[in-house]
Amino acid sequence: MNRTETYDAAVIGGGVMGCTTALHLARGGMWVTLIERAGLCGEATGRCGGTLSLMYVPAVLVPYAMRGRDLWKDAARWLGRDIGFNDRPGLDIAFTETDGEALGAEMGLRAAAGAPIEIIGGNRAREIEPALSKDVTAAAHCAQDGHALSYLSGVIFHRALSGAGVDVRVGTAVQGVEGGDRGFALRIGNGSLRARRIVLAGGAWMRRMIGWFGLDVPIICRVTQETISERMRPIVKSGIRVFRDISLKQAANGTVLVGGGRGSRWVEDADRQDIELEPLVVKRVMRDALDSARRAVPDLAAARAVRMWTGIEGIAPDNMPVIGPLPGAEGMFTIGCQRSGFTAGPFMGRLLADALLERQPEMPIFLPAFDPARLLTMAPVDRARGVPTV
Ligand SMILES: Cc1cc2nc3c(=O)[nH]c(=O)nc-3n(C[C@H](O)[C@H](O)[C@H](O)COP(=O)(O)OP(=O)(O)OC[C@H]3O[C@@H](n4cnc5c(N)ncnc54)[C@H](O)[C@@H]3O)c2cc1C
Repeated sequence: MNRTETYDAAVIGGGVMGCTTALHLARGGMWVTLIERAGLCGEATGRCGGTLSLMYVPAVLVPYAMRGRDLWKDAARWLGRDIGFNDRPGLDIAFTETDGEALGAEMGLRAAAGAPIEIIGGNRAREIEPALSKDVTAAAHCAQDGHALSYLSGVIFHRALSGAGVDVRVGTAVQGVEGGDRGFALRIGNGSLRARRIVLAGGAWMRRMIGWFGLDVPIICRVTQETISERMRPIVKSGIRVFRDISLKQAANGTVLVGGGRGSRWVEDADRQDIELEPLVVKRVMRDALDSARRAVPDLAAARAVRMWTGIEGIAPDNMPVIGPLPGAEGMFTIGCQRSGFTAGPFMGRLLADALLERQPEMPIFLPAFDPARLLTMAPVDRARGVPTV
């Protein structure tokens, strides 16, 4: 490969979106650098629950999530190492008639988009998962859900990226980007580097990155918690979610991971998360999440939390991804802010790389629904109402 001082592409942000985009660009013949301010997959990607579910994504993203799940299952082939994938049917449960109806309506849209989801009653749900509470009145069941060990993703991507010839720069924050006739200049530390194309893959920092180009978009950040229990005897096999509340799953080593919950917090600026999340609030959110988990699975009454952490992600007001060319700067692209983005991430990155390599992507990626330009005229998120879920 003829390597000049100007990269064909610089990808900024080393989560699942940036890593897969960089990997496929390099495998497609481009000279690529991936720049990550900390370690690869140290933010949302490595902190997430690793659930690969078709039941959490907006309906239009179901086909993408199905392909993403398949890619994680097949990680040994394209990433060089297995990521601890296991098939884990999902159950989204409701306790009240009202929630049961809302669950049925939401899941119907996902089923119509191709997800193999069936609506079942409480008794059938308990046949599938005997540990479920007798208070469960209805559930959605997706036999094709799965799980992967998201915390392994950084190590696995690093090896694959280096093997593909990507110039991986960790511990390197990009401070800004200037455009020009001969491509872009990226400011890093005391120096700079040049690239013909830029991919912004900053997750919760996407709004700030887009701001480098004088554009303000109403991306907001959401902070969620994950709590892990001590090892317990085998209790649940499925990935369980309480409708519009927490999710829980038990690992092979017996620990139970409880994530999300009604206590998720909206924050304006990703870097202020520690300031905006006071320890007492975090404690309450964790306690509420564990209470919900115990209500769903009474055998978790004895579960003791050993550790909790938070993660942060960027969300657009319409809850759709922000993927495509950035207006006003040829050669500048974004990828991220995707609901349940760990699931579909490997596929979205591959699709964007194919588009940049001028190959026909397997599914459309430059869709109006994903277009960053749509955000320029969009109202900010109404925090009280949240964002649409389907
Ligand atoms: C707690 C939690 C649980 C979740 N659980 C699930 C789940 O179970 N299943 C699922 O499918 N999805 C889940 N998600 C969503 C999923 O984690 C995200 O959608 C996905 O990981 C986002 O990937 P990303 O690459 O866009 O962002 P990130 O992984 O956040 O990567 C962005 C990167 O950009 C870097 N960066 C920022 N600024 C700069 C800069 N100036 N210079 C260089 N680098 C920079 C950051 O350090 C970061 O590493 C969860 C999210 C959270 C927060």
